[in-house]
Amino acid sequence: MISCTFDTQILAVKVTEHIEKATGTLFSFEVLPSLKGRDIQDLYNGIEPLMEFNPSFINVTYHREEFIYKKLTNGLHEKIHARKRPGTVSICAAIKYKYGIDTVPHLICGGFTRDDTELALIDMHYLGMDNVLALRGDSVKGDSQFIPEKGGHAYASTMVRQIAEMNKGHYLDDEIVEGIPTDFCVGVAGYPEKHFEAQNLKTDLKYLKEKVDAGADYIVTQMFFDNRKFFAFVDACRKAGINVPIIPGLKPITTTKHISFLPKTFHIDMPEALADELEKCKNNEQVMQVGIEWGIQQSKELIAAGVPCIHYYTMGKSEAVKRIVQGAY
Ligand code: FAD
Repeated sequence: MISCTFDTQILAVKVTEHIEKATGTLFSFEVLPSLKGRDIQDLYNGIEPLMEFNPSFINVTYHREEFIYKKLTNGLHEKIHARKRPGTVSICAAIKYKYGIDTVPHLICGGFTRDDTELALIDMHYLGMDNVLALRGDSVKGDSQFIPEKGGHAYASTMVRQIAEMNKGHYLDDEIVEGIPTDFCVGVAGYPEKHFEAQNLKTDLKYLKEKVDAGADYIVTQMFFDNRKFFAFVDACRKAGINVPIIPGLKPITTTKHISFLPKTFHIDMPEALADELEKCKNNEQVMQVGIEWGIQQSKELIAAGVPCIHYYTMGKSEAVKRIVQGAY
């Protein structure tokens, strides 16, 4: 008989433990699941060029269903419900056991009941993952506001509370009296330029504190291009009594499309100096060069300021992140 051992405890280190043990600024990055119909090798091809920099952890985003309108032969349109990038939890397990690196699955409220959330967390726990990034998610395309699932969470803070309860062995089913406690280290999102729905930064910080008080262990920020906004955000968090580690998130600009797409999609400002440089660019190669140089300067300044980790958004493209890390660390 062939015996096979599958050690689910391999390298299960929490993000906060990585930070506590670190002697300098850590490096981590985020990937998107492959498009449905593609192979996981596509994803590995995006990860492998970054392995030489010893990432402490890799995040995998979660993509909820989208509604698309397909044109029929009779000229009418059919509303189709599709998830284009499935597999977040299984991809995390695949990366973790292929490369021996901790992974952080993203988990969203949108489309999930509390039961669904519990089941997803149980899968992660069985697969030896001790990290999760708890998010609300955006509204479904076409909806004017976020609509929680019936029996689901309206805000990330209550999902964090549910995870904190599971960490105490409290499951939704109250017939489970001595449930095995999970041991999740929970990250949440923060917005140096405020979340676009928040009335102002003060209320946004109030709700960010609610997530931390509910049990979040650290914050990862939305991308930003102006470090002053990040430093001001960290100061405001500390004044508001938010004392967990705050990890800055950076995204390199690599195409002319990004120049308008990133501010519009992520509700962030492009500093004038960067916008001026980008305006001089005639093609994607020149834009990417400016984006890399800006990313190196941003990273160097953040490292000098002693941030615990820099988290890079690859959006499936590793070349620019690779050159930034080479130039900054
Ligand atoms: P919340 O913290 O719930 O906040 C949402 C809004 O509600 C904010 O304006 C907040 O101020 C307000 N609010 C919070 N609590 C209350 C309350 N009690 N009463 C009234 N208002 C309140 N999206 C995905 O779909 N998949 C991903 O994988 C993903 N990854 C991300 C990773 C990072 C690092 C970041 C920064 C964002 C990510 N997002 C992802 C996007 C995120 O889901 C959206 O920005 C979403 O609109 C808000 O999520 P949140 O967790 O910050 O929400």
